[in-house]
Amino acid sequence: MAVFVTADRGQYHLHVTTSTPMTEPIAFTDSSERLANTMDERDALAWCRDLFHIPASRAHQDGRTSVYLVGNSLGCMPKAASEQVERELQDWRRLGVDAHMEARTPWYSYHEVLRDSAARLVGALPDEVVMMNSLTVNLHLMLASFYRPAGTRTKIIIEDAAFPSDSYAVQSQIVHHGLDPAEHLIRLLPRDGEHTLRTGDVCALIRDRRDEIALVLLPGVNYRTGQLFDMAAITNAAREAGARVGWDLAHAAGNVPMSLHDCKPDFAVWCTYKYLNAGPGSTAGCFVHQRNARDTSLPRLAGWWGNDPATRFEMTPDFVPVPRADAWSLSNPSILSMAPLKASLEIFERVGIEALRNKSVRLTAYLEYLLGDVGSPQITLITPTDPEARGCQLSIAVADGAQTLHETLCRSGVLVDFRRPNIIRAAPVPLYNSFHDVWSFVQVLRGHVAR
Ligand SMILES: *Cc1c(COP(=O)(O)O)cnc(C)c1O
Repeated sequence: MAVFVTADRGQYHLHVTTSTPMTEPIAFTDSSERLANTMDERDALAWCRDLFHIPASRAHQDGRTSVYLVGNSLGCMPKAASEQVERELQDWRRLGVDAHMEARTPWYSYHEVLRDSAARLVGALPDEVVMMNSLTVNLHLMLASFYRPAGTRTKIIIEDAAFPSDSYAVQSQIVHHGLDPAEHLIRLLPRDGEHTLRTGDVCALIRDRRDEIALVLLPGVNYRTGQLFDMAAITNAAREAGARVGWDLAHAAGNVPMSLHDCKPDFAVWCTYKYLNAGPGSTAGCFVHQRNARDTSLPRLAGWWGNDPATRFEMTPDFVPVPRADAWSLSNPSILSMAPLKASLEIFERVGIEALRNKSVRLTAYLEYLLGDVGSPQITLITPTDPEARGCQLSIAVADGAQTLHETLCRSGVLVDFRRPNIIRAAPVPLYNSFHDVWSFVQVLRGHVAR
């Protein structure tokens, strides 16, 4: 997909070309509510909003929905989720243990039903993807196989601003190998005065320290700044340096299209309760590139669900890993936490990630335009302005009174989130947010920031 922006006599035009061509370039000509409504009327994906329960505003008594811009923390509930969960409860009630083979979606292979749509979403082959566990658990399982410090190659590269769980996971793995994280963890910092990392700098560091690096672990999209990394360039640099490379896609999955197979990292992990709307603690995703997935000799932590399903119930003492990403699964998975994921993935199958991205680029550009129109010295965007370097989220640094501003927004029925010391994150999600949601958020903000 190509995105470009042109400015013409103070007007801002955004052009997007994708495999599904857009009807016309959008010009954000003014900040009126009327324009927001017009864009919603023209939105080919407006129908998707009705597939979700949008929480009612707790700030109003009239039942109106909140302006829900926190789908990057917990996606809204698909209406079809209840039905999918109820179906499994019924089959359990009706069949007991026989539901493993005789449920409408047999439990024995339930996770396999999710495989194709999950793989399409991240641009992987079906054999490269398994839905299991939760994100950090999957990260540890991947590190057990792909962080194997040896000789001079002992170090892990992460961002200094990595999500804490990732930071804890890699540090504990380093300790697990008897090494000191202070020495064996390299943390990437942006240049002075900058908020995000430059691809060239990341690649240069990997090249310069090539003999020391065992693993590069970065996020597809950074949770705090909203920066979308150039996964292809960094993966290439890491592989050329002879290092293993993995991606944490918590904020990328369901947000931006990806081509994991072609990009060729060793592994990737993601959760499904953020942009994938599968509910709190829902079953996470794991990608193992085909070259590794087929390698049954790789060291791994094993359990019976990673054994070839054809012989799994023969209960033999020797592990026979299936030559797929499935070989990393350990336990029989939670059906009740996969049921909402099934409902959610069916929506992504219907709509398509490319179409969602197409709307998302416009929705976020509209938010950026309106924030610029507010023109307050109190707020600064720290997310990259290049649409190819971000997903849907914009992060706003607030010069002072960030927490008060956040509370005011919440009291007005606008749900955005606050990260210390002064970042407000807003994520307009193309599946269920409207242009009017974006307008409403900025309308409230406008009334409470310095001019
Ligand atoms: C949300 C998120 C997590 C959360 O981990 P869980 O294991 O699902 O609790 C981890 N890493 C990143 C980058 C995240 O954004």
